[in-house]
Amino acid sequence: LSVSELVDASFRRIEGTDDRIGAFLTLNEEAARAEARKLDESGSAERGLLHGLPVGVKDNMVTEGLRTTCASKFLANYNPIYDGTAVAKLREAESVIIGKLNMDEFAMGGSNENSAFKVTRNPWDLTRVPGGSSGGSAAAVAAGQVYYALGSDTGGSIRQPAAYCGVVGLKPTYGLVSRFGLVAFASSLDQIGPITKNVEDAAFALQAIAGHDSRDSTSANVDIPDYASALTGDVKGLRIGVPKEYLGAGIDPEVKSRVMEALKQFEALGAVWEEVSLPHTDYAIATYYLLASSEASSNLARFDGVRYGVRASDPDNLIDLYRRSRSEGFGAEVKRRIMLGTYALSSGYYDAYYKKAQQVRTLIKQDFDQAFEKYDILVGPTAPTTAFPIGEQVGDPLTMYLNDICTIPVSLAGVPAISVPCGFADGMPVGLQIIGKPFDEATVLRAAHAYE
Ligand code: GLN
Repeated sequence: LSVSELVDASFRRIEGTDDRIGAFLTLNEEAARAEARKLDESGSAERGLLHGLPVGVKDNMVTEGLRTTCASKFLANYNPIYDGTAVAKLREAESVIIGKLNMDEFAMGGSNENSAFKVTRNPWDLTRVPGGSSGGSAAAVAAGQVYYALGSDTGGSIRQPAAYCGVVGLKPTYGLVSRFGLVAFASSLDQIGPITKNVEDAAFALQAIAGHDSRDSTSANVDIPDYASALTGDVKGLRIGVPKEYLGAGIDPEVKSRVMEALKQFEALGAVWEEVSLPHTDYAIATYYLLASSEASSNLARFDGVRYGVRASDPDNLIDLYRRSRSEGFGAEVKRRIMLGTYALSSGYYDAYYKKAQQVRTLIKQDFDQAFEKYDILVGPTAPTTAFPIGEQVGDPLTMYLNDICTIPVSLAGVPAISVPCGFADGMPVGLQIIGKPFDEATVLRAAHAYE
């Protein structure tokens, strides 16, 4: 099979399905076909790790010469002049970029309904959301439009859509994958990771994108193991903690049953599990929305109508230019977060909100540190329910925020986690979340692979 054939199959699949699914914002057809021909003709014996594989990229990672919108009107015509590090590494590994994938505007949301441009539908049931914010990435992989995709995860945005769409989504340890060229939402939480059909593919994709980058000051300088060789199938004696807070009130009983069945399967494979408590879980949502909104309000200050994107016409003065460009360019959820964040950071409230939230974040991180003294991994659901109907939660941001109760604490702690498919509830896919120690992606992948 040639690369051109693979890439052609990808575009044909998109042509046949994307009018219903709506995963793509921009296609890279001409350049992708040219790249495929180049790879086919080069005939070099040394092949890249991801040679010829069609990949879709979430539209908050900058791609040279390829429109990058963050699903925001603000960036509707933004054409970056460089590649972000993760994207550049995929190109080095000889993957072919098929196009840019829909998301919630600036990655704020959990259903893709905050995209300024289009609705993305869940391939398993077109009346339901694909999850978010990397909903386009998960839907494209689930629908077979691309071989794999990149997503970004700030509070669950890789794992939750992967769970809703029945695919694998890996959020690496904070700092493992460079954020250079990822449009910042909440810089202390954002991480790029792969969305794939199976765990082995996730290991290969992570191998390609992980590693130190001097252009990201929070990039970790750690040795990168060979992830694929960690997939031994052996989990004998593996110690699993099951956070009881993730299986309490608010969890769909069917989702809980699938998780209990998964634990039985781990037992059959020789692992041992018991309940553990992460006592500060109740505070995670409030902490996250304070910190993430605060960081977002600061990061999004750069969208001022001067430097990028939307510029209001005929401004009276500079303040008018800022005000109208931002009023016209940002959607409702983005404005909500900017207001919340600006308020929390304002002098007089800083200690009561932002500082307090940072202190609680430390307590949440300590919950994980303590649990990992006793257990190798933690296992629970990725999300409390399966994918919900499009439109059901749009008017209710607080309910929407609660969907992230199992993923947000993990993000605040900065530890790695994967979502793997774990059966169905009422016909919709359920995701199992496997959480690991910092930089121990190898164990997370090994456990997920043995279970899968
Ligand atoms: N749903 C969460 C939010 O709206 C997480 C988003 C994300 O991880 N980017 O903030």
